[in-house]
Amino acid sequence: MISIFEIKKEDIKLGFKSAGIREYRADQLWQSIYVDLSSSFDEIKTLPLEAVNYLKSNHSFSPLRLVVKKKSKDKSTDKYLWKLHDNNLIETVLMRYDEDGHRRRRRTVCISSQVGCALDCKFCATGQQGFTRQLTVGEIVSQVIEIKKELIIEEGRSFNNENNLNIVFMGMGEPLANYSRTLEAVKRLNDQKGLNIGARNITISTVGLVPKILDLAKEKIQVNLAVSIHAPDDETRSQTVPINNTYPIGDLIQACKKYIEITNRKVFFEYVLLHGQNDSKSHAEKLGKLLKPLLCHLNLIPVNPTLKSDYKRSNSDKINAFREIITKYNIPSTIRMEKGIDINAGCGQLKSEFLNL
Ligand code: SAH
Repeated sequence: MISIFEIKKEDIKLGFKSAGIREYRADQLWQSIYVDLSSSFDEIKTLPLEAVNYLKSNHSFSPLRLVVKKKSKDKSTDKYLWKLHDNNLIETVLMRYDEDGHRRRRRTVCISSQVGCALDCKFCATGQQGFTRQLTVGEIVSQVIEIKKELIIEEGRSFNNENNLNIVFMGMGEPLANYSRTLEAVKRLNDQKGLNIGARNITISTVGLVPKILDLAKEKIQVNLAVSIHAPDDETRSQTVPINNTYPIGDLIQACKKYIEITNRKVFFEYVLLHGQNDSKSHAEKLGKLLKPLLCHLNLIPVNPTLKSDYKRSNSDKINAFREIITKYNIPSTIRMEKGIDINAGCGQLKSEFLNL
């Protein structure tokens, strides 16, 4: 049976109507599953028995079954491994950040958009698993719902999404290779009569699918865009990011310029630092020159080593020297705070460990 989280509100109304149930009951159902975060049809007290019975005989509830939950030693990070109806596995990560003088206290949910990934970035555990299938809208949105339930237990009903909850499409998969479902999921997360998470609190991260970045620029939604650049020149980038052979750096930067021009929004670049591969001073100088003309922010990420690749973390002197050069070019940057290393919180790592990949 298809999960209720896969169904649009209009279609729930149509289903109800054909079963002789008044259409306004669909609004009540919507409120229970997306606002009150009920965990089963039986829990929904606003609906009459006939509506509950109709739902139970036509739909399953959450599309996610918990397989493993791990908490980091410092308790800041939780990693969830979920089983889907076809036994595929996906991961979600919750990160808790305290106020740090620069940014306010916040909770960030890192969600998956595909089972596996076809893009084969050499340092990425998900890339090493290959591509299995696209996630559905319900499977994407339910990751947020399940985590939000936990946050409400932790923080109380007054937990306020608007200010405290961020969603990043930085889990397994390439969200722009699952474009229509990703956008539909963003709309669902956004829905003021549902989860009501502001688009500005949502970040879509891409390996750099140029045509899709241009499509996204034209959508009327104010999500943040993160671009995984990882190198300042084609030779270095093609070694770790094979899609660079299709969409080289020049085209990617052009697309980002266009995106900024159309949306007036800054682009967040991500740069995974790989010891001896992309972390030299000359890489930093080239990157500085490349990004200087753009309205952007650079996130430097020391690699989270995976079981199947040999990449090592850059040492902290190297990281700091790299950042100093970037600062010289007046590019705002951060070094990503390490979270969840002890629980394999890097993209795709828990699944790899679980399956002994
Ligand atoms: N496919 C998208 C989103 C998923 S990956 C993308 O490429 O952006 C999210 C981020 O995690 C990307 O910047 C990716 O390069 C980075 N990442 C993947 N594996 C990593 C690892 N082992 N260590 C650190 N960052 C990693």
